[in-house]
Amino acid sequence: MILIWLLMKNFSHKFVELIPEHLKDDILYISIEHCIAIHKCICGCGKEVVTPISPHGWKLIFDGETVSLSPSIGNWNFECQSHYWIKNNQIVYAYKWDDKPKKKKSKKKRFFRFWKK
Ligand SMILES: [Zn+2]
Repeated sequence: MILIWLLMKNFSHKFVELIPEHLKDDILYISIEHCIAIHKCICGCGKEVVTPISPHGWKLIFDGETVSLSPSIGNWNFECQSHYWIKNNQIVYAYKWDDKPKKKKSKKKRFFRFWKK
């Protein structure tokens, strides 16, 4: 069973001719001319994620106000291994299901220590 929990985060987009040297957080830069979209990994690790727009790559949907990218973006080559979707200028972040119990454990430990004092 795959269990994920989702986090929504607002995102914006910018149509550009050339991709700027310094990318800002939470902005998807889109170059129609070069058929490419680029953004900074949304986990905060600062790595640049390049998504080529092509029939075999990502598809960009622009509805006049917001953009969506499909399929999802999985940064398996990064240390953070983040995985998310960009849908209507919102990030839908998928956490791995085993991330959650680890956090619970550490909370319990802290609680325990508090009582031992
Ligand atoms: Zn990251």
